[in-house]
Amino acid sequence: MSKQSGPSLNIQLPPMKRCDTCNGHGEVKGVFHQMQCDACNATGVLHKDTGEQIDTSLVMIAMRRVIKQQRLTIESLKKNQQPHDPYGDLKEKNGGKFRMD
Ligand SMILES: [Zn+2]
Repeated sequence: MSKQSGPSLNIQLPPMKRCDTCNGHGEVKGVFHQMQCDACNATGVLHKDTGEQIDTSLVMIAMRRVIKQQRLTIESLKKNQQPHDPYGDLKEKNGGKFRMD
């Protein structure tokens, strides 16, 4: 087994578009069950300009970047979100008194 060199950190990713055949799911409905999409090699994306398949290692890098970005977005949303107090309005309207009935 030969040693593979890891992908460069600054690797250029090709422009990608969603696969029309599987609508980006990477799977198509077969006769009896879901099957891998042959058009995009089950990646859900194709080269934006040429419409050709993209190497799965490049797709993985792109997806890792997307996941990382979404994690950052979620974390920043969590930080900015105030804890929700479902009785906040009620307390003010009723002068601080809250009844369960
Ligand atoms: Zn596809």
